Amino acid sequence: LVEVHGVHKSFGTLEVLHDVSLTVEPGSVTVILGPSGSGKSTLLRAINHLEKVDQGFIALDGELIGYVRKGRTLRELSEREILRQRTQIGFVFQSFNLFPHLTALENVVEAPVSAQRRRREDVEPEARELLARVGLADKADVRPRQLSGGQQQRVAIARALALRPTVLLFDEPTSALDPELVGEVLEVIKDVARTGTTLVVVTHEIGFAREVADTVVFMDAGVVVEQGPPDQVLDAPQHERTRSFLQKVL
Ligand code: ATP
Ligand code: MG
Repeated sequence: LVEVHGVHKSFGTLEVLHDVSLTVEPGSVTVILGPSGSGKSTLLRAINHLEKVDQGFIALDGELIGYVRKGRTLRELSEREILRQRTQIGFVFQSFNLFPHLTALENVVEAPVSAQRRRREDVEPEARELLARVGLADKADVRPRQLSGGQQQRVAIARALALRPTVLLFDEPTSALDPELVGEVLEVIKDVARTGTTLVVVTHEIGFAREVADTVVFMDAGVVVEQGPPDQVLDAPQHERTRSFLQKVL
């Protein structure tokens, strides 16, 4: 369960998130839509504590992100505690971000071994299974530059899953891909969704949102304009801003 409650975030005088609240139920898929600069990436980064919020809080399964409550005040977690929290949250970026010098398999094995201190002998068979699940069983020993963008992104998804995260965040996972590679990555994400992993996906793929999302959140200028099931937000939006955005992307 991810709870975002009354979150505000500014960069200097620019308010990027204004009183953002949303709840992501366990096993659900939330798709976040919105124009460029509306604060989508900042919100995902805040969930991962890559950005500190100015006001409000974010909690994962009841545990505050980045802080611990001490009576009536909050203490910020140490860097080590934050890193531990972060291993519960998978993050897949637009630009794959694989380690270029490691093979696909090593990319998947790395974090569970180094950040979660799990035994390589246990992690490796799991990593091979994950690569098979994203359709790359035969690419285990290949380095990222020998893979297509779609294949690299599928390795990145396997790598995120290897941490057995409580929630998996995707920031425009297909927008750096050639159009013919978008489908294969969306299929993998759909497959992950079917296995009951909690997902939050920032994307402009409306078809994907319609098919997979339990909740669609539309953001504009740092505000959640509306949220609800896809047939409501996508087919019968209540706000003019949502309507005009959907007209542009459809
Ligand atoms: P896009 O669809 O283009 O990815 P977005 O909805 O993800 O946009 P954000 O990346 O969250 O938008 O950015 C929201 C606003 O915050 C933008 O105006 C951006 O320029 C600004 N911003 C983001 N990060 C910083 C930063 N570290 N310092 C200053 N301004 C920032
Ligand atoms: Mg963004």
